[in-house]
Amino acid sequence: MMLSASATRASSFKCSLLYPTSCSRTRMDTRPSTLRGCTSSRSSSLSPPREVHSADTGDTTISVQEWQGWGTTSPIPAMVTEIVEDLNVLDRNIDAQMSFGGIGGKLQGDFKIQEDKKHRAKYQALGDSEKKLQFFAARQIACRLLGSRGYLCQKCWLPLEDCMCSKVPSCSLLRGIRFWLYMHPKDFLRQNNTGKLLWQVFGVQAATLCLFGIAEHEEIMWNAFKFAGKDKVWCLYPNKNVPIKSVQDSFAQDSSTVQRGGNFHVDSTAQTNGDKTMNFVLIDGTWSNSSAMFRRLTERAKLVWEEDLPCISLATGASAMHKLRPQPSWDRTCTAAAGLGLLSELQLLPEFSSFGLDKQAEALEDALAVLLEALTARRLRMGRSITRRERHNRDIC
Ligand SMILES: [Zn+2]
Repeated sequence: MMLSASATRASSFKCSLLYPTSCSRTRMDTRPSTLRGCTSSRSSSLSPPREVHSADTGDTTISVQEWQGWGTTSPIPAMVTEIVEDLNVLDRNIDAQMSFGGIGGKLQGDFKIQEDKKHRAKYQALGDSEKKLQFFAARQIACRLLGSRGYLCQKCWLPLEDCMCSKVPSCSLLRGIRFWLYMHPKDFLRQNNTGKLLWQVFGVQAATLCLFGIAEHEEIMWNAFKFAGKDKVWCLYPNKNVPIKSVQDSFAQDSSTVQRGGNFHVDSTAQTNGDKTMNFVLIDGTWSNSSAMFRRLTERAKLVWEEDLPCISLATGASAMHKLRPQPSWDRTCTAAAGLGLLSELQLLPEFSSFGLDKQAEALEDALAVLLEALTARRLRMGRSITRRERHNRDIC
């Protein structure tokens, strides 16, 4: 029972399933209020500076096609467009070239100094904290979009020379399940993010990106939740203030759940129950960011339903996984592991046993292994030591 289908496979890729779903990275720059550079500079030595030449290309606007290529079906967020335009205006008006470096697109050089002044002034002028959060999120994303252009593969978010897309399996997720990757802007376009694997494997309709603080994304997600109803939405997160249910508590011995949630047996009540899809939110951010992200979800849930967001914790926690894990450095959880843990635990329930969820979990685990291999290969190629590599493994989220 404690061994999930995926956990029985011989693989060194075992993340423990502690929640929240991201591991403790060592990054410190997490608060919107600090508004530091566009991203951490930890890995900047790995990539050359990249200049964005508005003079060469006519402009640096982001097209819908480019935006959606990164893994979303949403329209371009209005505030991201606005910030890109601000960057363009600045680029035209000062004697410094817009330049990005590092993974994730950190502004560099004189342009960065000028832009820092400008965005800080704008941030301070914003009235309320909600506007500040949205501005922070949009600026992070705008910088990452421009800085990653032509450098990262849009699908796997790895540098083009390390693209792993051809090795990532694709698999259909059970129609009645939908994942929402509620992602912090600082994790958007990060190479070692594992949330992206869910839509790489299952597709963007089955695993949908929702960027924290991006109004358009949050509206799409909450509209889907409202349509589904509060008994069809769960967050994988241990909320200490509300009772947490296990997968078994939530779904076992309730065949009506399967009927209502699974979309496998559309009965006569289907028309009145709205959408039958079970929606699972995976919080995709650092430990320190995840509490703010979870808070934002619960506040919205209270507004919409006047209730807390139902939370699920997985049974396959650290103790169960411990014996299986050959590498202590894997004693961290990650977003993709949370997804495959959920699928594996559902598979163990008789109600769900015939839908091939084990195979779907397996595909996700294979993708996780592919990502690890790609990141490790890159590290080694860059001349990083084993020690660094191990530390890097720990960084996977
Ligand atoms: Zn790729």
